[in-house]
Amino acid sequence: MTDRFPANSYSFTESPPARNLIGGEWCDPGGSERLEVINPRHGRAMSSVGLSTAGDVARAVEAARAAFGGWSAWPVRERAQIFYRARELMIRDLDELTWLVSHENGKTFDEARAEVLKGIECMEYGCSLPNLSAGEKLTVSRGVTCEVVHEPLGVVAGVTPFNFPFMVPLWMIPQAIVGGNCFVLKPSEVVPLSAVRLGALFEEAGLPAGVFSLVQGGRQAVEALCDHEGIAALAFVGSTRVARLVYARGAASGKKVLCLGGAKNHLIVVPDADPELTAENVVASYTGCAGQRCMAASVLVAVGEVQHIIDEVARRSAALQTGTDMGPIVSEAAVRRITGYIDQAESMGAEVLVDGRGIQGDSGGYWIGPTLLDRVSPQMPAGCEEIFGPVLSIVRVDTLEQALQLENTNPYGNASAIYTTSGDVAAKAMSRVSAGMCGVNIGVPVPREPFGFGGWNDSKLGHGNITGYDGFRFWTRPRKITTKWALQSDQSWMS
Ligand code: NAD
Repeated sequence: MTDRFPANSYSFTESPPARNLIGGEWCDPGGSERLEVINPRHGRAMSSVGLSTAGDVARAVEAARAAFGGWSAWPVRERAQIFYRARELMIRDLDELTWLVSHENGKTFDEARAEVLKGIECMEYGCSLPNLSAGEKLTVSRGVTCEVVHEPLGVVAGVTPFNFPFMVPLWMIPQAIVGGNCFVLKPSEVVPLSAVRLGALFEEAGLPAGVFSLVQGGRQAVEALCDHEGIAALAFVGSTRVARLVYARGAASGKKVLCLGGAKNHLIVVPDADPELTAENVVASYTGCAGQRCMAASVLVAVGEVQHIIDEVARRSAALQTGTDMGPIVSEAAVRRITGYIDQAESMGAEVLVDGRGIQGDSGGYWIGPTLLDRVSPQMPAGCEEIFGPVLSIVRVDTLEQALQLENTNPYGNASAIYTTSGDVAAKAMSRVSAGMCGVNIGVPVPREPFGFGGWNDSKLGHGNITGYDGFRFWTRPRKITTKWALQSDQSWMS
């Protein structure tokens, strides 16, 4: 068991050090270095985390391997029952989990609540697998049947980023574990505490020891997971730079690997767009979670005469209050990085319509307010690179064709959206943007369960999606069984 997180407001609250969970035992990571876990709203250490070594990873895999035989023999309905129970416990602890996410990541209470609820939705999808994962069977010729059975892979692992400490692990865990695997999670060392609560909730729900393991840490632990030959599949969510390293290194040891990376999401606004709906939605997309979402708007492609909509976006952006409407940035280093992009765009000729630089919090912390840059060009770093902060770059073009070309030229392909009242324009954009998750009049087009989450191009390495049925397919392998019990009268090549 672990301690409950006692916060019920944004007031600074400490939490015990984040630990590993290996074979049902809570233990300290073996590395000598420890990192502070900083509450970004206060800029103060609320906890600490040790860094796991290759030895810790090996022990976790060993414990998972020992648990696999028993766990995979449980009928899928019984495996799902544990997740029904864990889901009930999450509802019981909704406030606690919400405050924990808010404190360790910085997002507002409402944003943290939405994250926890989305994590619970992922749990519900996992609970539904007994109804969805039945194999398929067909009589393929006279007297001959072919059947597909989805079997677990064994020990599998996930590596997750700082921006959704509760939800992103739950993109992976329910499908993997209800699918019959034993799972090793390496959460971001920046936000290790929600994962600890997850481990405790799974324990309380009755998940057998070793089925879920937790190794805290950073690069060394990830590299050990990539290299370990006892791990059959590895999913990663984080920046494209690290996604590339993990994809190559994980595949080199024969694993199935799926890596979701960074983003530069383009929202296209055409003159017939509904001004209120568009402005409200664009602002929510680029400022939600302080822009620290892989689905956040990053470039507003303004087609033709849409100045009235830009004015409304600026008005709404300027009215947002940091601290209440928008949370802090994750770290001081991130504030420097984001400020650098804004400074550089300004020096290259962009106009700063709304300036979020230099904001101070009431109790310290790391802040940047909503920032709107106009007359950005796609050649400026702010116009083509991932900033991962509350900054929206406006690029002006004359035609929809130019807008689509601009969107298509960017190497990322996570999300894209169009704002229009014309079905024809929407259909054209939806068939032409080069992105895996697309929106019409919606700036955060997350494909909710049962649809699978995953981008295209540099936003994803590997095949399929991380959530929905694709997630289940990733964590399992299909066994095809062809059966004949009787002699056939009409012979064929199958006989
Ligand atoms: P990150 O890439 O820095 O870290 C992600 C994970 O990789 C962490 O667990 C970290 O410990 C580990 N890691 C970091 N450096 C490593 C290295 N050199 N070798 C091996 N492992 C390493 O990402 P972040 O800053 O935590 O998260 C923000 C990024 O994640 C953004 O780029 C964002 O777009 C992306 N993201 C993508 C999605 C998606 O679904 N596509 C979702 C959420 C976040």
